[in-house]
Amino acid sequence: MEFDPTDEQAALRDDAREFAASEIEPRARDLDDAGEYPAEVMAALADRGWTGLTIPETHGGRGRGFVDLALVIEELSAAMMPVASALALHLGVARVIQRHGAPEQRERFLPGMAAFETVGALGLSEENAGSDKLAMETTAERSGGEWVLNGHKRWVTNFLEADEVLTYAKTGPESAAPHNVTAFLVPTEAFEVETVWETLGARSVKSPKVTLTDARVPDDRAVGAVDEGYVERGEVVTGVNVPARGVGIARAALEAAVAYAGEREQFDRPIGEFQGVRWRFAEMAERVEAARLLALRAAARADDGRSVGRELSMAKISASEAAVDNAEDAIDVHGGIGYTTERPVERYLRDAKLLTIAGGPNDVHRNAVADGAIDRYGHRG
Ligand SMILES: Cc1cc2nc3c(=O)[nH]c(=O)nc-3n(C[C@H](O)[C@H](O)[C@H](O)COP(=O)(O)OP(=O)(O)OC[C@H]3O[C@@H](n4cnc5c(N)ncnc54)[C@H](O)[C@@H]3O)c2cc1C
Repeated sequence: MEFDPTDEQAALRDDAREFAASEIEPRARDLDDAGEYPAEVMAALADRGWTGLTIPETHGGRGRGFVDLALVIEELSAAMMPVASALALHLGVARVIQRHGAPEQRERFLPGMAAFETVGALGLSEENAGSDKLAMETTAERSGGEWVLNGHKRWVTNFLEADEVLTYAKTGPESAAPHNVTAFLVPTEAFEVETVWETLGARSVKSPKVTLTDARVPDDRAVGAVDEGYVERGEVVTGVNVPARGVGIARAALEAAVAYAGEREQFDRPIGEFQGVRWRFAEMAERVEAARLLALRAAARADDGRSVGRELSMAKISASEAAVDNAEDAIDVHGGIGYTTERPVERYLRDAKLLTIAGGPNDVHRNAVADGAIDRYGHRG
């Protein structure tokens, strides 16, 4: 059993850590305050080839696996979670094209995506299709040799900077579900922006609601088999980034708390010497390590082509809750100043909260973990 990254993975992680410290951290607070897209950071990520991190080298990417992705995402998220979201959503769209796109679609879209000249966004969720994605109401119908899409998508992260939205639409009758959904690459110009929400956290990368009215796309924009988009999506691993983002925030909160408790003195000693504060560090460190092990186990299984549903659900719950709990503990350790924007810990809490919801609410992931537990330990008659 191997618990350490390879030399190559450790070098990639160290590069990402250095990049996060020099390119992201100095800008994070201002970008968050202004709710401004981290354009320069994303351009610098593209210069390093990380916007194509998991895209095959034959299509201009770096051809790295899920463990590598998890290591990089943890570092980016520790500095500024929305940067990691923007990258992860983009690479998730590329992965569906890699796995289910036609060879000519891979040629056409992936090199531009690797260079971040073509930015991807995901249009899956809708008003009535949150956890229950098959309740989606967007339709695509045949007309004049093309597809005509009508409906809406909400929470389309990256939309305002994106070029292509991987849009899921009903193409078959309800009686055929789940074999009644097709994925399309729809250019962002085909949508109208209906609502751009202000959010508690992740303020720099917006996730608006967008509508489609008689938007026409040709056949060569259907990705994968017609009517099989939902089923095919289930075969693609896109969820590794969410736990990795949680681990990043949880670790950043621990680092901030330990550093502050070493400087801040009350009762003639650093507050980090008080037993109560030290025990918080212990719990925070356990959460980081447990979440990271679960996240990397899921990523390593995905790299080996093994099933990851239950493992990813466990990692997602553990890491997102570690991020929220550690951010809250870090604020407590900071006292009043932790409640202000002078320190980053209040941002960690706001950003962390998204992770218990996005990528599927934790309660829904608990269903998957419970099913696994019952299968494994339940009464077998
Ligand atoms: C900032 C942000 C960015 C996002 N980015 C994207 C994106 O880029 N693309 C995209 O397609 N989607 C995106 N999402 C959507 C996200 O995946 C959904 O919010 C999520 O799947 C939950 O859907 P919902 O918000 O409608 O909550 P609901 O489905 O309405 O769930 C609300 C609550 O009901 C409970 N619940 C629901 N079903 C069950 C169940 N079966 N068992 C137990 N409890 C249950 C849970 O407590 C849950 O938290 C984003 C969301 C946010 C907030």
